[in-house]
Amino acid sequence: DAAGRRPAAGDPLAPGATPDDAVLLTARGIRKSFGENEVLRSIDLEVRRGEVVVLIGPSGSGKTTVLRSLNGLETPDSGVLDFDGGPELDFAAGITKQGRVAMRDRSAMVFQQHNLFPHMTVLENVIEGPVRVQRVPRARAIADAEALLERVGLSDKRDAYPFALSGGQQQRVGIVRALALRPDLLLFDEPTSALDPELVGEVLKVIKELADEGWTMVVVTHELGFARQVADEVLFMDGGVVVERGAPKDIFTNPAEERTRRFLDRIL
Ligand code: ADP
Repeated sequence: DAAGRRPAAGDPLAPGATPDDAVLLTARGIRKSFGENEVLRSIDLEVRRGEVVVLIGPSGSGKTTVLRSLNGLETPDSGVLDFDGGPELDFAAGITKQGRVAMRDRSAMVFQQHNLFPHMTVLENVIEGPVRVQRVPRARAIADAEALLERVGLSDKRDAYPFALSGGQQQRVGIVRALALRPDLLLFDEPTSALDPELVGEVLKVIKELADEGWTMVVVTHELGFARQVADEVLFMDGGVVVERGAPKDIFTNPAEERTRRFLDRIL
């Protein structure tokens, strides 16, 4: 549509436009402290439409805080965030409620734990955001949700409650719930780290397919094989800074920084 969002009708997963080089999101100089703990020390990030950016790095390096800052769950102390077509948000100057809402609407987050509402069926979970928050007509939201569930192989779970699903199925519903919001940007925060090992593959497969279809995403993951497959760009973070960034083949096979090398040696 005019805003360049993913189309809501017809094939719900067809990318809205062929991936091009248009920059969707620019973050500059993002800083965030919790009390005395300076967690992000000036993060710069650029995400182009259709691109997959993967954040890797040790626990506590600030990866989750970056994601949360991108969709308004966390408010940086300073720095600038600019979504294509939206107002530029300058955190040092303070942002308005409208600015925050405008930012939040651009992205949808898939959490480590799926966070499904336990008292709602799969379908109800998926349509909750579109119907209640976005005021999408219920019938259209249902049709959309059904198409998305079919897309991830969960049509038969439409009326099931979350407790009756496997962890992998729950997480796939979590992904569908994010897709149903038609965001410009999908944010994944260690989407498989809470899963039993045998369930990781089915979730990574769905994310990989979405990437192949042209969805724009920022992914925090410890699954380095997966990162290597899907990433257009990999950012290695440590101590609240981006230590190194580049194409996966460079970062994983020939990192420039000693800190990156040590991390990869430890985890691979
Ligand atoms: P990562 O995702 O790389 O593991 P996080 O972004 O989760 O790192 O955390 C970075 C640092 O910020 C950690 O030291 C963590 O304890 C701290 N932190 C994160 N969220 C909060 C919070 N809400 N309050 C206080 N400290 C936090």
